[in-house]
Amino acid sequence: MARVTAGAAPDTEALSAFADIVGSAHVLTENETTAGYCIDWTGRFSGQSPAVVRPRTTQEVSELLRVCVEHGVHVVPQGGNTGLVGGSVPLHGEVVMSLRRMTTIDAVDPLSHQVTVEAGATLADLHTTAAQAGLAFGVDLAARDSCTIGGMVATNAGGIHVLRHGSMRQQIVGLETVLSDGRVLRHLAGLHKDNTGYDLDRLMCGSEGTLGVITRVRVQLVPALGHIATAMIGLDDVAEAVGLLAHLRQTVPSLLAAEAIMASAMDVVRHCQGLEPPVPASALWLLVEAASSTTDPVDELAEGLMSWRDDLDVAVATDGPGSERLWRFRETITESISQLGVPHKLDVTLPAATLAAFNAAVGDVIAERAPDARTVVFGHLGDGNLHVNVLGAVDDDDIDGAVLKLVADHGGSISAEHGIGTAKSAWLHLSRTTAELATFRALRAALDPAGILNPHVLAP
Ligand SMILES: Cc1cc2nc3c(=O)[nH]c(=O)nc-3n(C[C@H](O)[C@H](O)[C@H](O)COP(=O)(O)OP(=O)(O)OC[C@H]3O[C@@H](n4cnc5c(N)ncnc54)[C@H](O)[C@@H]3O)c2cc1C
Repeated sequence: MARVTAGAAPDTEALSAFADIVGSAHVLTENETTAGYCIDWTGRFSGQSPAVVRPRTTQEVSELLRVCVEHGVHVVPQGGNTGLVGGSVPLHGEVVMSLRRMTTIDAVDPLSHQVTVEAGATLADLHTTAAQAGLAFGVDLAARDSCTIGGMVATNAGGIHVLRHGSMRQQIVGLETVLSDGRVLRHLAGLHKDNTGYDLDRLMCGSEGTLGVITRVRVQLVPALGHIATAMIGLDDVAEAVGLLAHLRQTVPSLLAAEAIMASAMDVVRHCQGLEPPVPASALWLLVEAASSTTDPVDELAEGLMSWRDDLDVAVATDGPGSERLWRFRETITESISQLGVPHKLDVTLPAATLAAFNAAVGDVIAERAPDARTVVFGHLGDGNLHVNVLGAVDDDDIDGAVLKLVADHGGSISAEHGIGTAKSAWLHLSRTTAELATFRALRAALDPAGILNPHVLAP
């Protein structure tokens, strides 16, 4: 099944070729300069790299990859290194190709509302560019200051606005990718109608650096949503939250986000941030936001909530600072968990019909295997996406296997938005059939016949 062979360390000839291409200042080989590229954001995944190469142009990416193929050197493409599944760091002595110097964002096209962005530009920079043009970018997530557009395409990142705008896959209207043999696939015209064969752009989306190195992305922008209303609702039952959300989808067309903060996650935020929620709850806090470009959505949101139940415990914000105060409870969960230890993260999706049952069972499944572990759950409820975080676990594999099996038994997917990386590749068969996995491997063999791109990631 596995086609992974050991990669070669770049010899002096390869290192010198790298330096000729990008300049010696952009070939890092000393431990103190490579260290930051070799450990992931959580601290759970770390390795070593003989060299970090930092191209500035597509041409340089192409030439670097040709050298790697020639010398049998394996490569981990890296953007902001905020990925959470161990796919962005060199766990097997690979060379790291950091795209962080490729940060150009072109001018926004005022007719198509599209913009072409180099892979290393951050999400925050794209948001700023879009806002300056009176528009917005449809994807947002808490790692916005560090995560890159290339990395977000490679992982098909989701975030807090998938409910309204979809994930990265839905924002892409063109892509430029370099294959491992150095050939450049350039498809950046941004035509919405272009029925000329296979959709290679979306094939790259979610490929986690295994099919090519993404160098430029053309994205569709969306109207800026200047009027917002945010509400935090305290609930005593997860099943009720799922029902309320279905009701809001139907009655509040301006719904933009719906996030769940389970009691276990609110405890962590209370402890680490000293924040006290504005309304009481015993099971979870549901954070919902409605937004519109033309009208104030507060009445629509209030009516949606009241028509579900008129005695809900709700805190509402209708201005930026008030909304930010409510979002702090959600946006500080990940960093708060990391303050308590190195988390073991399981990002999964459940169908709405089984989400509450899964949530009720998952704590026990983990406790049976790691009685001293602490389980913290939160997520993008609007997409059925739960983030199960385990602190203090001893046997990662045992817990992964049990939780992901539970997900599959409840009809869910073992990865909602973070991808497979190296962390979940052993369990990919729970979500994909044998025929699908064989097709994955055939695609890899066709696009990266030398097998140098992230060989240990996704379906090795
Ligand atoms: C605080 C926090 C909150 C987060 N919230 C969310 C969230 O709400 N939703 C969500 O989906 N994710 C979330 N993430 C995870 C992470 O931010 C995303 O996966 C993001 O898309 C990774 O982007 P990156 O540039 O950091 O990629 P990296 O971490 O550098 O890489 C991720 C993967 O993509 C590959 N890759 C990177 N760049 C390229 C490229 N140019 N070409 C080809 N392959 C490439 C890497 O090899 C790796 O496999 C969060 C992370 C943190 C730390």
